[in-house]
Amino acid sequence: MNRKTIDFSKFSSIRIGPIVDVALIENDVVPEGHTIVGSANNLLVSPTPPPLMLLSKEYDFIRLGEDGLHIGAATAGGRVVSFCKKHDIAHFEYLSKLPGTLGGMIKMNAGLKEFEIFNHLIALRTQSGWKRKEEIEFGYRKTSIHEVVFEALFEAQEGYSVERYELFNQMRSNQPHEPSAGSCFKNPPGDYAGRLIEAVGLKGMRIGEMAFSEVHANFLVNYGGGVFEDAITLIREAQARVKRAFDIDLQCEIVIL
Ligand SMILES: Cc1cc2nc3c(=O)[nH]c(=O)nc-3n(C[C@H](O)[C@H](O)[C@H](O)COP(=O)(O)OP(=O)(O)OC[C@H]3O[C@@H](n4cnc5c(N)ncnc54)[C@H](O)[C@@H]3O)c2cc1C
Repeated sequence: MNRKTIDFSKFSSIRIGPIVDVALIENDVVPEGHTIVGSANNLLVSPTPPPLMLLSKEYDFIRLGEDGLHIGAATAGGRVVSFCKKHDIAHFEYLSKLPGTLGGMIKMNAGLKEFEIFNHLIALRTQSGWKRKEEIEFGYRKTSIHEVVFEALFEAQEGYSVERYELFNQMRSNQPHEPSAGSCFKNPPGDYAGRLIEAVGLKGMRIGEMAFSEVHANFLVNYGGGVFEDAITLIREAQARVKRAFDIDLQCEIVIL
């Protein structure tokens, strides 16, 4: 099995993590006991992660077929948007502002407000074959997928929209520019994680080079050279304070490995 050396302090969007030898998935051969990573936009990798694996370039493709749009799980969201613009396909405009690969987006049911990756999904292919959307449980930033996703099939409806693309760009304007892994916590039902973090006095709270952003409290940002331990301390502190003050269990949206 081929391997690739990855420095997670450079590869991950939050710029934290060790240098690790990662197994490469080729020809649908998935090594036992390994955790899949996409492009690490939603990950916080510890100094001692479990064995990791990555999809090879063969899973980076987009193909328009009779049955819909086939997208490989290693394909970046930006590439999907460019393809859809060129072929006048609707409903993928929001991916331009959602960093990651299709596999990571499907596992997380990533999205922006009511626009989620499962909305126009037809089926996906995993280690155990093709599964229709109806066979998968999914909700806000969660799915019942516990296998490696190789590719997915989507509805290919006509009508790429420049207006929607612009709207999504505007929706991003309140995000900090420092490295982060996106939203740190999921929004609890009927509330906002950012509001709760601010209410318990943690907006802008900094430990070492890590902080809950001044711009948006639910973004755990790295001011440069931040470390895993400081990130975890801030996460645990927010969970403890919000539990004490509001009796709400804040759940991490960031995946900790
Ligand atoms: C600045 C910023 C803004 C963001 N904004 C948003 C937002 O608005 N909405 C939103 O939903 N997310 C947002 N995110 C989070 C991130 O964009 C998404 O979670 C994205 O889906 C991560 O994709 P990835 O390839 O980087 O996955 P990773 O971070 O590498 O992995 C995420 C999870 O997916 C699993 N996974 C990865 N590939 C596969 C595969 N092939 N098969 C099965 N499981 C797999 C991993 O095991 C892990 O559990 C943001 C992140 C950043 C940095």
